[in-house]
Amino acid sequence: MEFNESVHSLKCPKCGHGMEEVTHEGITIDRCTNCRGLWFDADEAQQLRSLPDSAMVDSGSAKEGWKWDSRVDINCPRCNKPMELTSDAKQKHIWYEVCPEHGIFMDAGEFSDFKDENLLDWFRGVIKGSRETVCP
Ligand SMILES: [Zn+2]
Ligand SMILES: [Zn+2]
Repeated sequence: MEFNESVHSLKCPKCGHGMEEVTHEGITIDRCTNCRGLWFDADEAQQLRSLPDSAMVDSGSAKEGWKWDSRVDINCPRCNKPMELTSDAKQKHIWYEVCPEHGIFMDAGEFSDFKDENLLDWFRGVIKGSRETVCP
């Protein structure tokens, strides 16, 4: 859905469509109505990660997220400054965009992956390693 200030909480930095608020256990994040990317203010991603069932906020498919993953020149939806592409310190195959002052943007499927840090991820990282080869 095209971004409309009266309906949406934020404009998606990736595809430009509107984002809507999604609340889980008292933590509210923003999810894009089109590409299903997720915006986390400050440390919301870390907070949500520790909650049971929080992967349900990440309702988009990793395949859909992957289509947008290559689009990396995005600006922070809060301050409009260019965001930095960062890979997760523990899960190198997960890349997300960061505004040091405002928060994190993840493509659909990335939060579920980020949350389920486990042996499979470790294994996958060892086998595949580079970013190009981990397309879901
Ligand atoms: Zn979007
Ligand atoms: Zn910002």
